[in-house]
Amino acid sequence: MRLRNIKGCRDKIAENAFVVHNPQEYQNNWDKVFHTKRPLYLEIGTGKGKFITELAIKNPENQYIGIEKFSSVLIRALEKREILEIDNLLFLRMDAEEIVNVFGKEEVDGIYLNFSDPWPKDRHAKRRLTSKRFLDRYQQILKPKGTVIFKTDNQELFDFSLEQAKLANWKILNMTYDLHHSKYVEGNIMTEYEEKFLKEGKPICRMEICF
Ligand code: SAM
Repeated sequence: MRLRNIKGCRDKIAENAFVVHNPQEYQNNWDKVFHTKRPLYLEIGTGKGKFITELAIKNPENQYIGIEKFSSVLIRALEKREILEIDNLLFLRMDAEEIVNVFGKEEVDGIYLNFSDPWPKDRHAKRRLTSKRFLDRYQQILKPKGTVIFKTDNQELFDFSLEQAKLANWKILNMTYDLHHSKYVEGNIMTEYEEKFLKEGKPICRMEICF
């Protein structure tokens, strides 16, 4: 998702109290940033932030970080965040390529990937957030029982991700090609993209994996 450039959004993000700037400085110290020790969950490619905001409101016992690479998208998530009185949700404007420089070994309890960009050309496969290259990185920062939960409408990307998980020696804990007609829908929080695809009648695939 890349929205039309919004004038001044980079400056607004630079001043925003809910965005952590220079996140490399906090590697292994995220509890200090939140001022409490709670399980830490990430959403990578958070978009306009609906999913992670609702998740943080529902689960005050956890802390959440939404990671988004484009300012023009992140600004929408920050608009949602600013009107809430919660203490467990922060954002990073960052490319997920940097993730192992920002989070320490076993610092993260779980990762959500929602409707990640498919990068359909083969030569771009390593940019997919569910490629082995990224799974290896997640393994470096996740706790041993930590999981990655991935949702997509794109069955090709989903099948690719299953293959990559096996290649990286991850376990498939559960999976469905039609989340909204499965038992895994209970407690599901819809993302912006999910709402759109569901209205179009597209089935949503979901997997939960761990290493
Ligand atoms: N998760 C949201 C949803 O489900 O509604 C947005 C989905 S959108 C298709 C994918 C988002 O991931 C975009 O906002 C894009 O900028 C972001 N993204 C893609 N690759 C990324 C990366 N390497 N690091 C951080 N964000 C990324």
